[in-house]
Order: sequence, then C-alpha cells, then structure tokens
Amino acid sequence: MRGLRACVALITVALLLGACGNSARPESADQPPAVSRNADPTSTSRPAARHPPKPISVIPKLYAVRTEARAVALTFDDGPDPRNTPQILDLLARYQVHATFFVLGSAAKHYPGIVRRSAAGGNEIGNHGWTHLHMTNLNEEQLSDQITRDANLITRLTSQRPTSFRPPYGDVNQTVVEVANALGETVVLWTYDTHDWTSPPSRVIAQRLFRKLHPGAVILLHNGGGRRGHTVRMILEGLIARKRLSFATLALEGVDLSGQGRHEVI
Ligand SMILES: [Zn+2]
Repeated sequence: MRGLRACVALITVALLLGACGNSARPESADQPPAVSRNADPTSTSRPAARHPPKPISVIPKLYAVRTEARAVALTFDDGPDPRNTPQILDLLARYQVHATFFVLGSAAKHYPGIVRRSAAGGNEIGNHGWTHLHMTNLNEEQLSDQITRDANLITRLTSQRPTSFRPPYGDVNQTVVEVANALGETVVLWTYDTHDWTSPPSRVIAQRLFRKLHPGAVILLHNGGGRRGHTVRMILEGLIARKRLSFATLALEGVDLSGQGRHEVI
C-alpha cells in the first residue's frame, strides 16, 4: 500500500515515552508561522457566513503522528545540498536511522545522484516544490506545476512517486492542501522547528530539541547552510546516549499519514 509505504519510510529515532511527556499537540510557538488559520476547515473562529458555506473537504495536514512507538520522525528540507546531504546520509547510515528528505526540484536536477543515494539508503523522498516559493501566492495551475514537476523528477530518479508534500515556509491554505491531495500527496508540516537555519550552535539546537521531544513528533531540519552534519551528529549521538537510559531506535512502522487505522494524524 503506497500510503503505508511512505509512512514506513517517514522514520525515526525512538525515545522514552515517560521521560518526554504525552503531549500530542504541536507546541504553539513551534507551529509553522505562515499557516493560514482562516483556511483551516477545522477552525471555529470564522465569522458567520451570510450564505451557506461552500462545502470544504476536510483533508488533514500532518503536524505529528499519533503512534504507540517511542519514535520521532526526522525531516530535512531544501536539499539536496552537495556538501551537507552526503554527510547527513553517512550519519543516518552509521546509526541505522532513516529520515524524510523534502527535496527541491531545482536543486535535485543538479544533484540527481544524491537523491538516488538518499532513496537507496531507505529514506523517504518528499516533495518540497520545484522552487522555494510561497505556495499561497500561486494559483492552482502554478501550484500544480510546482508539485508535479518536482514529483516527476523524484519519480524518475527513485522509481517511487512521492506521497508527501511540504510547502516551503509551511505556507499552506486549503487550496494548497487540495491541490497536493489531488496529486496524491499529503501535506506534511512539523511538530518542532529546530530553527537550524538561524545557525545557533549545534549543541544548542540539540539540547532544545531534546527538551521538546515526544513520541510521534515530526522534527524539521534543513540540508543547506551551516554545519548540518555536525548538528545531526549531535542529535543522533544524544539520542544514542539516551538509548542507554532505555531509549531505543525504532521505525515508525504502521504509521498511516492518511489518518486511517490504528495510528492517526493528530
Ligand atoms: Zn524549505
């Protein structure tokens, strides 16, 4: 099953349930800043409509996954990067951890070998659009072009059609969700933004992250800029250290991004 396959690949590092709390909601301060709340079909703060509201299909956006596994998902945006992505892949392989790479088509076309290697290593390749644009500024045709061009390239490189779309900046509204969904992709946002792109010391990034981790969290990291390899190593080694305190490395097998079944979208 394609959805399940994608979810199995949205993998992960495990953590201790009791030590990390049971919060299933994203931290409000960590929510993507550009999400259009008015476009959220679940919002209750909308003004009363004069006319009967246009039916809106409720399509879940993924901020985190509800899972019984003690695991979080590592996601890397804006790649592939010729310097950092291979280092990240080396580290993931060394620690036997998988992640999801949301690649830009405009970068992937220059570094197709890195995308192939990412997928061959058991990582999921997600769609980040062809160029790094604010998707809510685009019309449906432009949106579709951004998603489709990237998806076509990813498919050509990996023989696997992406099933996840992360809009740049987390900039999403109902139109973005519907267009992505019509193209077979679920919008995946994040639970916790490491803000690694602001270049704090790797140690600070890792320590902040460890304080926030909870099962099912989707962690946002980036390929480009800064010493990504160093940051990822600190994160993975920190998690490995916790393994000695009953942490374990597991895959989020069985997580279903569609929200059906035992593991649901939060
Ligand atoms: Zn991005």
